[in-house]
Amino acid sequence: MPVPIEITILGSGSAIPTLKRGHPAVLMHRAGDYFLLDCGEGAQLGLEKAGVSPVRIDKIFITHWHADHFAGLLPLLETMHLNRRTAPLEIYGPDAKRFVNDIRDLSYWSIGFRLIARDCGRRQYEKLFSTSDYEMWAIKTKHNVPSCGYALLEKPHWAIDVKKLKKFGLEPGPDLRKVKSKGKVKVKNITIRLSQIAVQMPGRKFVYSGDTLVHRPLFKFAKGAELLIHDGTFIEPALTHAHPSSDQVARLAKQYGIKKLVLTHLSRRYRTESEILRVVRPIFKNTILARDGLKITLR
Ligand SMILES: [Zn+2]
Repeated sequence: MPVPIEITILGSGSAIPTLKRGHPAVLMHRAGDYFLLDCGEGAQLGLEKAGVSPVRIDKIFITHWHADHFAGLLPLLETMHLNRRTAPLEIYGPDAKRFVNDIRDLSYWSIGFRLIARDCGRRQYEKLFSTSDYEMWAIKTKHNVPSCGYALLEKPHWAIDVKKLKKFGLEPGPDLRKVKSKGKVKVKNITIRLSQIAVQMPGRKFVYSGDTLVHRPLFKFAKGAELLIHDGTFIEPALTHAHPSSDQVARLAKQYGIKKLVLTHLSRRYRTESEILRVVRPIFKNTILARDGLKITLR
């Protein structure tokens, strides 16, 4: 069974927050990893409501340096410091080194952990790091300042077929652990290969766009994703030349086989969810709107 990936929307609003919608921030939790995607004002309160200590956050991914996406960093870092964090914290983003340095200069504090800024998002697709289970990517997007989205891409994994196990007389224990880790094991002079007792399953894909016009390379990368969280600021065609219209997003999500689309960064001009949903649902029925505190679990 794959480990659950839990995604919690901490803030679903756009440039001006409302009582119901805070500035953008998304928490992603997979096995022992806790990542924050964007860190708008109020992100640490969102973490508190989600029951996650800020100290657990290992990495923060900023899509672009507009204040609604990063203004929560200063108070979050302060809280981490006061909670005696010692583990280093990585912050990714286009021009991250420049902006993280600026933030470091904004106070008399002396934080007791290492801040590691990592620039990304210059290339269309950029692999940020890879673990034994998954890869994390930055995808260049199209906003009015340097920007990128982020994607978690799981590697294919082997799922044990219990019937085949029985056929080979293998039982849970050291032999099974060995075949899982080494790819083969020798039992009573017979070599059993992993491919004989397991089937390869594709990994899951989760993509977060940040603020962007519709950008086909992002959808190409997100093709078939379990979940795409996309800028859904406006219903109307791009008012500011920096955000898409929701119908364009829904159309491409359908075309690229996205399993679930969540529109976020919602403008305060819309008073009800139905105003937006009646435009997008007829185009792509697996669309929902983000809400502060909304939790989605990928299994
Ligand atoms: Zn924004």
